[in-house]
Amino acid sequence: MSRYDWMEYAACAQVDPGLWHSDTGTSTGYGLAKKICASCPVRPECETHTAHLDADEYSTHGVWAGRTIKDRNDERLTTVRQERDEAIIRLLQRGGLDAEEIAVQVQCSSRTVLRVQKAYRAGLGAAA
Ligand code: SF4
Repeated sequence: MSRYDWMEYAACAQVDPGLWHSDTGTSTGYGLAKKICASCPVRPECETHTAHLDADEYSTHGVWAGRTIKDRNDERLTTVRQERDEAIIRLLQRGGLDAEEIAVQVQCSSRTVLRVQKAYRAGLGAAA
């Protein structure tokens, strides 16, 4: 049994593959691809597969598991921002550093640190 056996059941194997790998990425084509992905019986396997693809291949080619290039890039950006904000909060909780020093450590602007700090404090106030 090959680790690619699931591809035999892929919904995209039954229709024009250009819908998933259009160079132009027209919204019409990708919209149809995403609809087909939504009901694909091997979507979980496809998602697992895409997680192991070479980053460049994954980031530059078409729709995988119902997500376009933009969807995937947006997800990555969200993850990077969440990790940055979590790092800022950890440093704020530890104390002893001002916004400039935290910004240098996290490699962002002090304005970002202050924004995260404000949101964090507002969250603490809401939880109290
Ligand atoms: S979920 Fe993956 S395997 Fe299924 S149709 Fe979409 S791209 Fe193809």
